[in-house]
Amino acid sequence: MDISSLRAQFPALDQQIGDYPLVYLDTAATSQKPRQVLDAMTQFLATDNANVHRAAHTLSARATASYEAVRAKVQAFIRASRREEVIFTHGTTEAINLVAHGLTAQFGPGDIILVDSAAHHANLVPWQELAKRSGARVVPIPLSADLRLDEAAFDGLLTENVKLVALSHISNVLGTVNDVKRLCAKARAKGALTLVDGAQAVAHRQVDVADIECDFYVFSGHKMYGPDGVGILFGRYDVLDTLTPLLTGGEMIKSVSFDGSSFGELPNRLEAGTPPIVSVIGLGAAIDFLNAIDRDALKQHEEELMRCLTQGLAAIPAVKLYGSAGDTRLPPENSGAVAFNLADEHHQDVGILLDKYGIAVRCGHHCAMPLMALIGIKGCCRASIGLYTSKDDIDRFVAALKDCAELLGLDD
Ligand code: PMP
Repeated sequence: MDISSLRAQFPALDQQIGDYPLVYLDTAATSQKPRQVLDAMTQFLATDNANVHRAAHTLSARATASYEAVRAKVQAFIRASRREEVIFTHGTTEAINLVAHGLTAQFGPGDIILVDSAAHHANLVPWQELAKRSGARVVPIPLSADLRLDEAAFDGLLTENVKLVALSHISNVLGTVNDVKRLCAKARAKGALTLVDGAQAVAHRQVDVADIECDFYVFSGHKMYGPDGVGILFGRYDVLDTLTPLLTGGEMIKSVSFDGSSFGELPNRLEAGTPPIVSVIGLGAAIDFLNAIDRDALKQHEEELMRCLTQGLAAIPAVKLYGSAGDTRLPPENSGAVAFNLADEHHQDVGILLDKYGIAVRCGHHCAMPLMALIGIKGCCRASIGLYTSKDDIDRFVAALKDCAELLGLDD
């Protein structure tokens, strides 16, 4: 991988924070954007800006064509079989809410929703709300000692009453990767629906929903080098078509009168109102950008960086690593992110200290309070990488963290 030429395409990375060059290790929260994405959005606004789908005039026809072309790009990007299976939302959170709301009428007392214990709150709270509305019950899938999904426990929980299984593809805290294809196959065999939260996966690996065979797959544009304000809900057509729309209003109807309204067909039925048009255009450019990269080589490069990162951290005595990253006997299998604390120092203080060295990491509960409770901590720091992360970034980060440990008298 020619990281320096990839990196040169991201203007935000080329800056100093105080006396230090920026080391951006917060890609799991949001990625930086390549020039190609910025240019596509600016260009669209400058020349083609119009609302979509009522194309009497040229600009609107252009805007609609560009918007719908991105749907086709997303379809190919995740290998969905039909364009109607791709719904534009405002992000992963909205996509999961859309599904949880849309399934309400199909759930009732006695039904069980199994949720990954490492799930982001976006993949837990909407199910809790669905449970409140329907009388169903949310049951967490336990984690094993190394904080991986405990598959034996999952098998035990998978009864005929399980109506839906909600999984993370990759944990946003630990970077652990779930074998979603195998887990979805098991769920399907019991007649349960499956939703995979791919917010942390799409930037790091080629996702193939036909191969995973999930019912729903969701992700956000801003974590895959695109803009914020746009997300994707993929749904298997037959299941997607059963969802009650979360939002009603313009764009999603067939006919409206004061006696009542009827709804249109997919995908419009689930896209009420003016969609995030400019963000969709930016997402299309991000997909083009990713498609031009050798994804297998990128995966290898990122795996190598994760090895350097976890080994570098593990060599600092005061660092506590969580999950499989903490098991130095095994090569780390985490993708994209690693979670740590510096002895008993408050994670926020460590983040502020690192910022003095130009290092950007995220500190807190990472929208995964149940996981924090399972680990027995209030929060932690997380370093996460992107395709622009260099070996030099990792070295600077590890050196800065060593300095912080020394400064705090934690070096032995
Ligand atoms: N799921 C995961 C795994 C995430 O990492 C995030 C973002 N941190 C979300 C869901 C929510 O994404 P968004 O805020 O873009 O809706």
